[in-house]
Amino acid sequence: MVSINKQYIEEITKRVPLQNLISHETGTKFKQTSDGYKGLCPFHKEKTPSFHIYGSEKQNFICFGSGCGVKGDALTFLMKWRNITFMEALEYAREWANMPEYVPLDYNQSVAVSSNRPHKDMQPWNHNPISKTIPIPKIGIPVTVYNPKKSMTSVNSPTHVHVYRDTNGAPLLLVLRFNRKDGGKYFFQVTWKSGGIKQLPNIKGCWTQFNFVPEIARPLYGLQDLKTWQKVQGQFILIVEGEKTRDAAAQMLPVNTLGILTISNLGSTGAVNKIDWLPLVEGIIEVTDTVESITFILWPDADEVITKPDGNTLDRQEKFVSCWKEAIIKAFDTHEIKIDAFFRQIFPGNERSPGWDLADASEEGWIKGDFTQWFYSCSKLIDKYPAN
Ligand SMILES: [Zn+2]
Repeated sequence: MVSINKQYIEEITKRVPLQNLISHETGTKFKQTSDGYKGLCPFHKEKTPSFHIYGSEKQNFICFGSGCGVKGDALTFLMKWRNITFMEALEYAREWANMPEYVPLDYNQSVAVSSNRPHKDMQPWNHNPISKTIPIPKIGIPVTVYNPKKSMTSVNSPTHVHVYRDTNGAPLLLVLRFNRKDGGKYFFQVTWKSGGIKQLPNIKGCWTQFNFVPEIARPLYGLQDLKTWQKVQGQFILIVEGEKTRDAAAQMLPVNTLGILTISNLGSTGAVNKIDWLPLVEGIIEVTDTVESITFILWPDADEVITKPDGNTLDRQEKFVSCWKEAIIKAFDTHEIKIDAFFRQIFPGNERSPGWDLADASEEGWIKGDFTQWFYSCSKLIDKYPAN
């Protein structure tokens, strides 16, 4: 394991506003107190807030609830909440902190914020699709997951099952979400590994946790709709935050009737430059003769602008939009895509704010034209491709 400079770790925790991270992850609402913030503890059930964020830079949390006693910093929180390792928590927090990746020798030079990180030369996603004969886990049905790092299995029933698929609909990997007994939740990203494992030598295979390696690009979420999108000559590509939002949006805005391809990416906004663009790019190249233009609609979560302890601000909506836009333009340039593309951003402050009223809209029986209009009315053109 790489040993990480302590100063680098401190810099990351300093740059992550803990109350915003915890609100974003858990939905906890915080109130300001004389020395920090307090809110309902996400790790145990309670009616009176006993979860405090404190310290000179509000980097620590502690719960005074009886029998609970969780405490720590942003990294401890992430490890506990997401059930991930220290290194995974560090990577997740790093993306929040907008810090460059850790470079052991060059740490002192690389610590400056770089919002314009060059894309690495990555291999496309190269794992074989999961065989059709393997049943996908279902919500509410117990599933065994093997953790190769700890050489142990766990059994729990997922509350969400998100299946990453290729353009033929074949499953590539799954993101499973589970509830913890104490009210928390955790995620596993798993793929199917054939053959027995130490604990279960006689089984034919097992859902197995895995971590991405930096050299391999990650698949986009929502690619199974690409072929339908081409068939109906869709012109909109809607980009949202997270698998859950993507699933809800895709259900409300069906690709076959509205021609809207809805996608999202694995991990936070910082992971957008780790995406394997090839399948989407190839899909777009195929329609450049039949479709006049493509409009990317960028729909960030309604996170507020955060002022960090050092006085700098963090605008996660802005970051979401710039990361996606840069990555798409880069992919278009690299593959010499000859089509006009427009970038529009949905501003959640507008009258019909996102997410929630998609459901209302569906109940109201909206049709294609309505949505096209709606997208134009609650979004702003922020950029176009080619630029001139
Ligand atoms: Zn607690």
